[in-house]
Amino acid sequence: MCHALLQDPKFLILLLRIDHEFAAQCRAEGCRCGGDLHRSDYPRKPRGCPPGMRGDCSSRLSFCCAVCRKRATSLSVRFLGRRVYLGLAVVLASASRTGFESTPTSVRVATELGVARQTLQRWQAWWIEQFPLTPLWRATCARFMPPADVARFPGALLERFEGPPAHSLMRLLVFLSPVTLRGRQAERR
Ligand SMILES: [Zn+2]
Repeated sequence: MCHALLQDPKFLILLLRIDHEFAAQCRAEGCRCGGDLHRSDYPRKPRGCPPGMRGDCSSRLSFCCAVCRKRATSLSVRFLGRRVYLGLAVVLASASRTGFESTPTSVRVATELGVARQTLQRWQAWWIEQFPLTPLWRATCARFMPPADVARFPGALLERFEGPPAHSLMRLLVFLSPVTLRGRQAERR
């Protein structure tokens, strides 16, 4: 079951490794001004993370240019934007529902993770109302044939990434990783 992945250190270590690969790419590209990038991570206090893994999820990898001081934050499969919960938790708690209706499973997952009912409803509304408007979805939705059922997001999206649960969830998180980049950084991807 997908939900077991929330407690699986091996899966979280895999996500951490992917984030480090994204960070290495970002650093190799350097700053637009030609300056070198230095590590300057954002501290995070993630929720929805097993206690033993908090140390590995306590920073959002990021860089700062040595010359112009501009920030460059790499893509992430662990964090979905500025939400305090891990992206994994946001996907799994939101996925078990139909439309705006929370199912017993989504409520159970949310309760286990300590997600307030209003937070869950906010995530669910984001998937249906705002995610379809993101540059990421607009640029990629044509790849999903037949068209994905937006009213059942993110569950309907997860179903499109086939394979064993860990594999399909990992691929979905990689797919989602550019979703919260804005402006110039988003254009570069
Ligand atoms: Zn620079």
